[in-house]
Amino acid sequence: MIRARVERHLSGCNECTDKATFRVHLKALIQVKCAEHEVPDGLRDRLRTLLASADTGPDQG
Ligand SMILES: [Zn+2]
Repeated sequence: MIRARVERHLSGCNECTDKATFRVHLKALIQVKCAEHEVPDGLRDRLRTLLASADTGPDQG
């Protein structure tokens, strides 16, 4: 699951100390996963929406 991978990344990445940095890393992770065809189209769309809302949505930590 990409979620598990992201969470593991967060727990081990010292650079993800703020939301903006995390977003950059998350996008990179998603792009890698998409390149590996590990992410179904539906999930990829949802991730895109998630990232888009993270750019403008309320701060949820
Ligand atoms: Zn990171």
